Amino acid sequence: MSYFDNFMLANQAYVALHGTAHLPIKPKTKVAIVTCMDSRLHVAQALGLALGDAHILRNAGGRVTDDMIRSLVISQQQLGTREIVVLHHTDCGAQTFTNPAFHEQLYRDLGVDVSDMDFLPFINIENSVREDMQKLKDSPLIPEDVVINGAIYDVDTGRMTEVK
Ligand SMILES: [Zn+2]
Repeated sequence: MSYFDNFMLANQAYVALHGTAHLPIKPKTKVAIVTCMDSRLHVAQALGLALGDAHILRNAGGRVTDDMIRSLVISQQQLGTREIVVLHHTDCGAQTFTNPAFHEQLYRDLGVDVSDMDFLPFINIENSVREDMQKLKDSPLIPEDVVINGAIYDVDTGRMTEVK
């Protein structure tokens, strides 16, 4: 038995809560949130978002990668979002390793040479938020008039602090 069985069971209860309602495919707030996969960050609850309100794009670290930009272009040009929030958080898994050490670990444990792969670790959270906001501003695929904000979420208190 895997944890998946629990999900199927929990979903039965959720269906009753959800009811049947077809919301528009375009997010109501016109916002896309770029954030980390961290399990302690419940983005919808923390930001007061309901179903249909915003796109939530997640990866390790909440980093602006090529694939994150791919999703944002679809979010904006197909689904009407006009604002982006880069939301990183305290105690992030992307702060727990360096590229060289991780490359070495993967070679040792998996026998795969990924020495040219950047896993985008970071030390300072404010810097990583600023770096990713800048990457969005520099991208020709993100229009100039798109509003970009950045913040840090504290996993211990749930508090979000703006990064200027
Ligand atoms: Zn994280």
